[in-house]
Amino acid sequence: MIVTLKQHTSLEVCASAIRTCWQSFDKSDNGGEKDRELIDRVGNKFKHASTLEHLFYTFYIQDVSRALLQELARHRIASLSVKSTRYTLKELKNEESFTCKDIQRASKYLVMTGINMVDEMSIIALENLRLVLGTGISNDKAKYCLPESYKTELTWSVNARSLQNFLTLRSDKSALWEIQNLAHALYDALPIDHKYLFNIKTYED
Ligand SMILES: Cc1cc2nc3c(=O)[nH]c(=O)nc-3n(C[C@H](O)[C@H](O)[C@H](O)COP(=O)(O)OP(=O)(O)OC[C@H]3O[C@@H](n4cnc5c(N)ncnc54)[C@H](O)[C@@H]3O)c2cc1C
Repeated sequence: MIVTLKQHTSLEVCASAIRTCWQSFDKSDNGGEKDRELIDRVGNKFKHASTLEHLFYTFYIQDVSRALLQELARHRIASLSVKSTRYTLKELKNEESFTCKDIQRASKYLVMTGINMVDEMSIIALENLRLVLGTGISNDKAKYCLPESYKTELTWSVNARSLQNFLTLRSDKSALWEIQNLAHALYDALPIDHKYLFNIKTYED
């Protein structure tokens, strides 16, 4: 999995939005320690959490499964643009056939679990899909035999309030292992000076 932070709002913008309420703009230190403390106090401690919605992050997320995608898409307070199987399944058409031992070559298309039997069955599903595409059946019909492990990528934009909710729910050990990994990768990709606004559970918690 690869997570790249494409853009984010500066802390100064969020602090300024908060200062709108009291018209205390003269107290700004341009995203410095005073602004950081203000955002945490108002947004987190006072639970005036809508102020955190001024902080926006756009991530590019690669090499995740469609199983993960359907869980990520349940987080409604976010925006997604996802690689379309309708337009991209042709990438598989020119591949040589896969045997279930071709773990490395199939990893270009599939998220592997490390469980041999699961991964081998997943590769058989990939080969079946390749055969279907080879007959000329349209991508829109062929996609119905995609395995859940098939890789996808997307642009994901989310505000800090919703990201807090996501990281809390999805870094928990009760969440799907792959989405736990995503939660950690998203946290790691955050700007260092924003991390204090977020809590993430460690794998040991
Ligand atoms: C461990 C785990 C297991 C899960 N298992 C299942 C499962 O078996 N089946 C299943 O279907 N889903 C399952 N889910 C998904 C879960 O039910 C949520 O859909 C998902 O976690 C998104 O959470 P959310 O609604 O808080 O996020 P968002 O949709 O991003 O919403 C963020 C917040 O906005 C508010 N909000 C959003 N929409 C509304 C609304 N319509 N009304 C009121 N408030 C709203 C809520 O405060 C919400 O917490 C699971 C999630 C986890 C973490």
